[in-house]
Amino acid sequence: MKIAVFSAKRYDREFLNAANASAGHQLRYFDEPLDRESVGLAAGYDVVCIFVNDQADAEVLQALAAGGTRLVALRCTGFNNVDLKAAGQLGLKVVRVVSYSPHSVAEHAVALLLAINRKIHRAYNRTRDSNFALDGLMGFDLHGKTVAVVGTGKIGYVFAQIMLGFGCEVIGYDKYPSDAFKALGARYAEHGEIGARADIVSLHCPLTPETHHIINADTLARAKRGALLINTSRGGLIDTEAVIQALKSGQLGGLALDVYEQEADLFFRDLSSTIITDDVFQRLLSFPNVIVTGHQAFFTQEAITTICETTINSVTQFAKGLPLTDEIKAV
Ligand code: NAD
Repeated sequence: MKIAVFSAKRYDREFLNAANASAGHQLRYFDEPLDRESVGLAAGYDVVCIFVNDQADAEVLQALAAGGTRLVALRCTGFNNVDLKAAGQLGLKVVRVVSYSPHSVAEHAVALLLAINRKIHRAYNRTRDSNFALDGLMGFDLHGKTVAVVGTGKIGYVFAQIMLGFGCEVIGYDKYPSDAFKALGARYAEHGEIGARADIVSLHCPLTPETHHIINADTLARAKRGALLINTSRGGLIDTEAVIQALKSGQLGGLALDVYEQEADLFFRDLSSTIITDDVFQRLLSFPNVIVTGHQAFFTQEAITTICETTINSVTQFAKGLPLTDEIKAV
């Protein structure tokens, strides 16, 4: 199969080439993200392979179908950037990587939590400047604290498991509660309990119309004062303006993000010599109690290996006319 790989970075090429060594598909890498401007590059390719910030809206999908593309292969879990209904109507199949190391993302969420609580980002800068003063670096014990896990699927489950190991009380919220989560020794929260009791809230649900801005002025006002918020899921779960207000008033005690609603204009590239025009993002970065990583939670050797192997395997299944294990369709 001829595969056009969009938003291709050096590591994508390395790991996809390795995964493809025995499969023998023809891979063509494009640095550009897939969008309405770049979609012409995909003409003549059977498969388009995309990532989290590529746009596969109805217009792009229409152009892909017209150019001969028959499969859209997401090399990620989330699929909020694909119009599945339009894909179905156009006869385009869509696959994603349903599961790859949930440990990669859960462990990164824990890294962010530890860093924001113990001010590791500030300590790192201070000690490099021979400033060994401790003022402003005080954190709190995680042991005995209440951690809310919003979305108790694969990643939320592993995150909960780790937090239980720290001696935290773990309470969950999920549209579809799971027995596996309860079997860990965690439990599902009573109505209003997350706001009233959680010292830490970590988001692990997908971005859907229902979860868009699940963290907003109202939920923040009902949160425990000084709580920490961790988001390694999707930026759109958080109303960033509301979060800035909550940080300014001290209602929110700290924020650690791996994802940001407008990240498509920023992440996965070196902008260190350019002027960032997103004032909301710049305001976020100005808080001492905010840490941002650039959507790197998935970025471990184990995860990338599985992502690339699964993607190539899906293309091979498609080429052979086999059922697509990781196919997604509009519900
Ligand atoms: P999953 O499908 O295993 O779990 C998601 C959970 O969210 C499920 O239990 C589901 O029932 C629940 N859910 C769905 N709708 C909900 C709602 N309205 N309210 C509350 N819960 C709801 O997915 P996963 O593998 O655990 O991944 C979770 C998310 O993490 C993905 O959707 C993706 O956005 C994000 N992610 C981020 C990175 C990264 O690098 N930062 C990497 C992979 C995944």
